[in-house]
Amino acid sequence: MSQEAVSNPAPSTHPSDLAPDTVVVAAGRPERGHDAPVNPPIVLSSTYVGTGQVVDGDRAYGRYSNPTWDPLEEALSALEGASLPGLIFGSGLAAVSAALSLIPVGGVLVMPKHSYQGALVMASELQERGLFTLRTVDIADTEASISAINGTNGKNDGGAEDGFPPASMLWLESPTNPMLEVADLRTLAAAATAVGAVVVTDNTFSTPLVQQPLELGSDVVLHSVTKYLAGHSDVVLGALVTSDAGLRAQLLHHRSIHGAIAGPFEAWLALRGLRTLALRVERSQSTAAALARRLQSHPQVEAVRFPGLETDPGHHRAKVQMRGFGSVLAIEVRGGAAAADAVVNAVRLWTPATSLGGVESLIERRRRHANEPETVPANLLRLSVGIENPDDLWNDLAQALTTTGTR
Ligand SMILES: *Cc1c(COP(=O)(O)O)cnc(C)c1O
Repeated sequence: MSQEAVSNPAPSTHPSDLAPDTVVVAAGRPERGHDAPVNPPIVLSSTYVGTGQVVDGDRAYGRYSNPTWDPLEEALSALEGASLPGLIFGSGLAAVSAALSLIPVGGVLVMPKHSYQGALVMASELQERGLFTLRTVDIADTEASISAINGTNGKNDGGAEDGFPPASMLWLESPTNPMLEVADLRTLAAAATAVGAVVVTDNTFSTPLVQQPLELGSDVVLHSVTKYLAGHSDVVLGALVTSDAGLRAQLLHHRSIHGAIAGPFEAWLALRGLRTLALRVERSQSTAAALARRLQSHPQVEAVRFPGLETDPGHHRAKVQMRGFGSVLAIEVRGGAAAADAVVNAVRLWTPATSLGGVESLIERRRRHANEPETVPANLLRLSVGIENPDDLWNDLAQALTTTGTR
């Protein structure tokens, strides 16, 4: 900062002061002053000038902090309703890795069986190395999930073990990837808290505009910033947000020592993308809802998974804990995996690609990935709805589905 006194600070972005659709625009701005930039600058420096003593809170070195991270971390914290700044990481999975490091050696992790694939793979590998026991659950089944949290279901996916101790960490993801199951976040978080477990919620699919897990009892919120928050499929980044100072200190230590840090360019791009989050989410959610309804009556579609549909098993739960229903949906195509692949090959506007949350609509048959759980139907296509014209998106899908129907 310059020597000159800044008399006109940026507006407060405390969530109680401003609505979330304002926060995405107003949070993390540089302090105001004559000729001050409107956007935070990108700071490229691997080290910082110090004094004779190391003072707590010094930037010190580029692996510990970077001024370009701060505005994004501030904005994410405000959006999730946290009392402490967020922590950004080099990817969503780097954030997953830091979060899983909170599990004590020998502890128990309860995780949805349809969690994000990379998180599941990481958890299974850590289990194989003997670090903790993994119990996977159908997270939409609240009773069974609570039994797994308490250790009273007499079952342990982790194999041989004396007794069935309660969870040390509950992992939540809702709606799940790619099945779109909805977990009762408040009830499950309360059950986990009662046994002393740390509750981590992957909020990537919903964004903080749609769902606020901290308010629903979670301790830590995780984002693949790569997806909706950055929003333009041009950056890979992750984040963790918590209001618990002890947990935040452990996560910050993990980031500093393991080194999975964000590049300044990526942090800057993500904040730039975040500015339009409210508009993008509003548009893609409404298009997703319209497409889900139209797909439901298409003869080539066996099933539509989308919590926005009144007939969806997760609908009522989603209505209680979400503002909207997100913009990822899944369809099961008549004719099996081959027919589903044919749809992917026949679309012209939709992009056949993995990932989600960008301005462009993406389509993918999930079981093409070898690691995808076998409980995911082979004919399931995951659709990430972007912000294109809704009719253009429908027409393209409809022509691709019809092609496969007449083969
Ligand atoms: C993409 C994704 C991740 C992983 O994030 P990366 O940025 O790809 O490392 C984690 N969780 C969910 C729900 C995701 O969609």
